[in-house]
Amino acid sequence: MAEAPTTVIFAAPLVLPVSAPPMKNGALLVWDGRIAAVGLLEELRRENPGVEVRHFPRHTIVPGAINVHAHLGFRRGDEPEGGSFSRWMTELISRLPEKAAWTPEAARNSAREAIETGTTFLAESSLYGECLPQLAESGLAGTVYAEFLPFEFDSPEEAVYFIEEKVRSLREGLPARVGVEVSVHAPYTVDPKSARLAAQRVQERGGRLATHLSESPEEYEFVSNGTGFLADIFARLVQADWEGKGISPVQYAESIELLGPRTIAAHLATGVSEEDIEVLARTGVAAAHCPRSNEYLGCDVSPVPEMLARGIRVGMGTDGLWSSPSMNLFEETLFAARLHGLDGETGLALATLSGARALDIEGETGSLEAGKWADLAVVEAVLGESGVSPEMEVLEAAASGGVAATVVGGEQIYEKPGNGAS
Ligand SMILES: [Zn+2]
Repeated sequence: MAEAPTTVIFAAPLVLPVSAPPMKNGALLVWDGRIAAVGLLEELRRENPGVEVRHFPRHTIVPGAINVHAHLGFRRGDEPEGGSFSRWMTELISRLPEKAAWTPEAARNSAREAIETGTTFLAESSLYGECLPQLAESGLAGTVYAEFLPFEFDSPEEAVYFIEEKVRSLREGLPARVGVEVSVHAPYTVDPKSARLAAQRVQERGGRLATHLSESPEEYEFVSNGTGFLADIFARLVQADWEGKGISPVQYAESIELLGPRTIAAHLATGVSEEDIEVLARTGVAAAHCPRSNEYLGCDVSPVPEMLARGIRVGMGTDGLWSSPSMNLFEETLFAARLHGLDGETGLALATLSGARALDIEGETGSLEAGKWADLAVVEAVLGESGVSPEMEVLEAAASGGVAATVVGGEQIYEKPGNGAS
């Protein structure tokens, strides 16, 4: 016999649904993993007598964080020196032969860290989807974008056939809310023919695509002029001719039909012009903003306010622990809010609902609304204690260890010891 669906009420002095105004003494009725109702605790209790109430007395309930661009497989405390993308990348490449030894454990720890800091959905990119097992067992909802290296194959057709088959086989036997898609890693690792063909295949079957785009000054120089550090990498790895395209990475990506509503482009940090923003808006591509990684690697600042003003879907990503100090998406977002002068409301939305929109999953998660999955973070923050907006208060608390509980699909997968729930 199947188990009866669980019904539970989560309640706190403040609930921030993000898609609706803040609610004092609010609560969520959760049934079978989804939010059945959002309302006042008093009312939900009266209408649902006998249902267990998990009350968090000094906390705020918010949607769980959506990390739209992360790599799980990098080991904490072992990052290559930053400062410049080329130096960092050189060191990273030199360590690749050893990675099998530490990637699984690093991935497990990165996922755990994301959960303990309030993340409920995570988009991960790894070579041939190697971090899928650790994401799938973590309790997170999420997608692994499987990167592929066409130069390991005889032709673009063979490479794309392989990654498509790989994705198909990786999808077997996964938890309901874990998926696998394709990533075209970057312009300097994937030749234009393979990139275009992969995007075509993904589009044909209604899949989704991730890519790194316009990240570093080195990438800009490579795409535009065909020179510099990445031209050497491309010549060595891909062993194909590459001439400068005379256009920006964004325009190059458009020219090979990589950009569209179901593609998420990570970084967009260096040299993104007005014209590029036009391209991004026109194609409907989404952006993953990873400001701490950009700073560490000597990349520029992504024009996020301008992209938001043009209606481009922007979500937040931590990237991985070799370019970022933590997997804490709220901390990443607080950094972005300070960097761009965004208010708390915009910040909290970026960390949650905007991320869901960027990944095209806003019908399922990203805000506290009836019908969506009960994906939430419980944060140690009480209304009005610090004088800043409740949203900023939540970001500040969650950025510095203040997540008391994380709930994915109605299931509490993390509870901070001694958090005071009753
Ligand atoms: Zn990345």
